[in-house]
Amino acid sequence: MLLESYRLEIFNSECMPGAMAVHCFAHLDQDVGEALPYLNTALGGFEYLQNPPSVTFKAQGKLITVHSRKIAINALKDEDEARKIVEWLKREINDAWENRERIVPSFKGAPRPQLIEILKRLPKTNCRECGEPTCMVFAARVAEGAKGIEDCPPLTGEKRRELEAYLGRFNLSD
Ligand code: SF4
Repeated sequence: MLLESYRLEIFNSECMPGAMAVHCFAHLDQDVGEALPYLNTALGGFEYLQNPPSVTFKAQGKLITVHSRKIAINALKDEDEARKIVEWLKREINDAWENRERIVPSFKGAPRPQLIEILKRLPKTNCRECGEPTCMVFAARVAEGAKGIEDCPPLTGEKRRELEAYLGRFNLSD
């Protein structure tokens, strides 16, 4: 087993001190850097950095970045949810490492949608119904996979279908 143990650090967002969500770091007791290209292939990471290595992907509705000695997860309900996701990741990392002879390692991220292409299909009224301050911020959240079309209630009709078709070209699912 590559990853055997870790220490959880749970904290509130400094930029949104009133927010309900917590964030989590799992400080890893073993170095998982060599497993990251295999994990990238297995989980379809959308960003892969080589030096130092890290892979970022969306899973279970969260943005997750795995570094050699640390995992970062955003927007969690509570510590229980953090523990469940880190345990799941531990299994994924160990599975990817144990099956590395059958996995083609990937050193790059999958293509991502362009913020501007998303923005031009949004209503651009900055109405905030999506919980974001502007349509531009919402577009950035969609591009990174943290929000979806259904989170913008005013987006209907042809523009909604256009955005669905555009995003359908990318793998943004959980
Ligand atoms: S709900 Fe839609 S239209 Fe309103 S701010 Fe968010 S992205 Fe823009």
